[in-house]
Amino acid sequence: MMITTTSTDRLLSSAVVARLDATPHVFIDGTRRATRSGEELPVFDPATGHQIAVAASAGADDIADAVEAARRAFTDPAPWRQMSPLDRGRILHRIGDLIYQYADDFAQLEVVDAGKVLGAARNIDVEFAARAFHYYAGWPTKIVGSTVPVSHPNIHVRTEREPVGVVGAITAWNFPLLLCGWKIGPALASGCTIVLKPSEETPLSALWLAELAIEAGLPPGVLNVVPGTGGTAGQALVTHPGVDKLTFTGSTKVGKRIARQAADTVKRVTLELGGKSANIILPDADVQEAVTGSAGGIFWHSGQTCSAPSRLFVHKDIHDEVVEQLTAIAGQLKIGHGIDEGVDFGPLANGAQLERVRGYVQRAQDEGATIYQGAQLPADLTGHFHSPTIITNVTDDMECAREEIFGPVLVVLAFEHIDEVIERANASDYGLAAGIWTKNVNTAQRMTRRLQAGTVYVNGWGLTDPAAPFGGFHQSGYGRDLGPDSLDGYLETKSVWTCTAEIPLERSEEQ
Ligand code: NDP
Repeated sequence: MMITTTSTDRLLSSAVVARLDATPHVFIDGTRRATRSGEELPVFDPATGHQIAVAASAGADDIADAVEAARRAFTDPAPWRQMSPLDRGRILHRIGDLIYQYADDFAQLEVVDAGKVLGAARNIDVEFAARAFHYYAGWPTKIVGSTVPVSHPNIHVRTEREPVGVVGAITAWNFPLLLCGWKIGPALASGCTIVLKPSEETPLSALWLAELAIEAGLPPGVLNVVPGTGGTAGQALVTHPGVDKLTFTGSTKVGKRIARQAADTVKRVTLELGGKSANIILPDADVQEAVTGSAGGIFWHSGQTCSAPSRLFVHKDIHDEVVEQLTAIAGQLKIGHGIDEGVDFGPLANGAQLERVRGYVQRAQDEGATIYQGAQLPADLTGHFHSPTIITNVTDDMECAREEIFGPVLVVLAFEHIDEVIERANASDYGLAAGIWTKNVNTAQRMTRRLQAGTVYVNGWGLTDPAAPFGGFHQSGYGRDLGPDSLDGYLETKSVWTCTAEIPLERSEEQ
């Protein structure tokens, strides 16, 4: 059934309206609860700027409750510890199925909570969140140790892989549901329990997912979702001595702080941080394909993707042609509320982010760059929209070419030689993704080896799959989300030594 909600003036499903109207709560030990802090946070639709819901804002006591619930659920003989790997996998599959069952509702929720465009929310955010659970459902039965060939006689050594314990997960606002799949999937497959703090901007889908996980058969306390601010709830999770591992997706600035604080209790840490990804179009590339892929990469979700190809290096011979085609695409994007038909370009997350992006563009202009603004913003839009923007006449040392803008702003730089462009592409604090557009496979292969990035795309951009590890070099973070590599972050390795020789009686009495 579709009904109208006055808070958004848009048609939303009854399931979504129920989430928006829910009393502010945290989800701890398998149930909704009011916070002990008594604090609340308004939730806004970025496309209208209107408040659409009120969420709980957890305090340190709430985090402590959640960690305690997660610890209980992790401790033998809790059902989760006793559960067979096959049954753990079955639960993960059921969570994936439930995401699919409510896919259209989740997509709508992400549109109004995170400023998504409906088609992308359904086909990317929701689809790949579900796929992550189905992918990790296959892993519990395949996490194995090994036999170790030690050089001692009569001794057998094997390794076992055990869950690290209680995981604290902190996520960013740009992919609220998707990041749940990236964090919760491998943590559950490994046998860990979790306390997840979503971004204060976008807490709704994670809370719903936690309820569906119970419906899927997950024992209470295994997954706890505690919305709140980074400064309070996030900090409490980072510093809580009962948390064994932190997995974080967010800015490099906050990631560094978390790494420093986690060191006090030697927590294991995975950091997925920012980027300023270099995307290189060689002169032999299919220009139209390269332009379409590059524009899609930077303008998708209004540039609010960590791996956005925000530094475009174009060979000087095709520079003007590429810029012309890019500006044509930027001019044709349909800007609007992501729930409306035909819209392919939505808002930024909030007013502060909009001001931040405007500031970068203004300073680039002040430094002498040329600014092309794309499609006009419709006059009736009240949300936090920034038109798709292309900046040329830029040098590598300018702020807009170095810093992560996290908006729909593409910086275009010309180059002449391959060695030169590789050196310039690598001259960044970040190393999340890189791209090469060329028809020459050998050139692509040689360049791939030399580019310092966690993901390198050849003749494409932005593809993702739960089986392919994702993460950064340099200040884009460490550890990996997705793929088998992600599991390493949630597992400890135990070496088990068994002496097979008979130990003389006198000696064993001495011990
Ligand atoms: P932030 O780093 O500001 O926030 C990320 C999360 O950390 C939020 O939940 C936030 O809470 C919380 N947080 C903030 N301060 C603290 C603190 N002191 N202690 C603990 N937690 C804290 O990032 P954004 O949400 O602004 O997301 C954008 C950034 O995320 C970009 O830099 C982007 O590149 C990066 N990102 C990286 C990805 C990757 O896989 N590499 C993927 C997606 C985004 P609150 O919401 O209350 O501020």
